[in-house]
Amino acid sequence: MYKQRIEEYFASRQAEMLEDISRLVRIRSDRQPARPGKPYGPGAAKVLAESLAMARAMGFGVKNYDNRVGTVDLNDLPPALDILAHLDVVPAGDGWTVTEPFEPRITAGRIYGRGTADDKGPAVAALYALRGVRDLGIALRKNARLILGTDEESGGSDIEHYYALEEEAPMTFTPDAEFPVINIEKGRLVGSMTAPWPEEIRKSRLISLEGGTKINMVPEKAEAVVADLDMEQIAELLTQVEKSTGVIFTAHSEGKNLVIRAQGKAAHAATAENGNNAITGLLFLLSLLPITGDGRIGLIRRLHRLFPHGDHYGQALGVAMADDLSGPLTLSLDLIRTDDYGLEAEFDSRTPLCANDENVRQIAANRLRSAGIRLAENPMVPPHHVPAETPFVKILLRCYEMYSGKPGRCVAIGGGTYVHNLARGVAFGCADPEVDNHLHGPDEFAVIEQLMMSAKIFTQVIIDCCGEP
Ligand SMILES: [Zn+2]
Repeated sequence: MYKQRIEEYFASRQAEMLEDISRLVRIRSDRQPARPGKPYGPGAAKVLAESLAMARAMGFGVKNYDNRVGTVDLNDLPPALDILAHLDVVPAGDGWTVTEPFEPRITAGRIYGRGTADDKGPAVAALYALRGVRDLGIALRKNARLILGTDEESGGSDIEHYYALEEEAPMTFTPDAEFPVINIEKGRLVGSMTAPWPEEIRKSRLISLEGGTKINMVPEKAEAVVADLDMEQIAELLTQVEKSTGVIFTAHSEGKNLVIRAQGKAAHAATAENGNNAITGLLFLLSLLPITGDGRIGLIRRLHRLFPHGDHYGQALGVAMADDLSGPLTLSLDLIRTDDYGLEAEFDSRTPLCANDENVRQIAANRLRSAGIRLAENPMVPPHHVPAETPFVKILLRCYEMYSGKPGRCVAIGGGTYVHNLARGVAFGCADPEVDNHLHGPDEFAVIEQLMMSAKIFTQVIIDCCGEP
């Protein structure tokens, strides 16, 4: 029902919708220093004002929650459905080739620009869905609200503020991910480890070790400085470890010290198998150095045994586990550094539904302790799960199938989305999982056809969630 009318309605609205997306993309809305009344800086406040003006001009009631979040209401009936999108973006970054990041460009069926896919395009598609339901004159018994946040990329304090003031709707989806439906987001353990250097009879030859930049990224680079070592002694070893790990090593002498650099490949920690970990590669190499009776090297060898290169599932740490719904636990050693006193390192583990403090954190803590390494008592972040049998999820999957012609299914991910802390929220759209939209990188784009289809799907979802039963 309504499919044909919805298709017809959107057939003539593409140009207008793309222009409205462009209006928002032109406003640079990455996080900037706070100004009075503008907690996320002037760009975020400006894009919020612009989007609310856009919605008001369409005839909707809007509200600005202290320049953190804005809302657009379809009607003033009791709440049923919230659509949670965001208007802030990550910084522009370098390497753009198709256009400048804040000068949207339409070409070859795509719209390019920072935020076109994440998440201004989807936000406008949702606004057009509200408008479609209204213009088609479909009678509703409940409200649908579009919630526009402006701090998704820098911590989510926007929706924390909003949900401190407002109730969670009976149903919520965020179009800030992929189709079909993401109903499970794994839990997380950030493992902060420290180990003092063992008491030493003579000075260690390991001068320093450092690698990684962010806790949620597989490290691309790591570096170690080792005393009284020269290239000739380890040339063969470098080649051997390179071959078995794929990590590339370079080394050069600085006086009596050898500086060894490891070059791997970055990836998101939740999908560590897509990267190549420079830290674990370097640990492997260091553990094979022809050095004996050295306390620091001994500690490195024990660390290497617990985080062997290529172990993305926490096998060596004794925490490997999986369940049918959410898949395997993943684990990535992402940060390491040393100083005069000892070593500090952090791993990022994404934990399935079957994981808990006892079978993950405590097991890891025990294994580490026996290697002389202390695991801080960070609590685990619980997973997020809305069962696939929930009527709301079934509506979403049905609407997706109706307009995409593809089979709908529920997906579990290791990352967290905007709805991670909502009891009844799922992620739904707008990206096609087969397409790499270059999120957070240069040349971010959205496929226009996909945005138009999303607007139609959302229109149908609003009708099915807020209309007559
Ligand atoms: Zn996003």
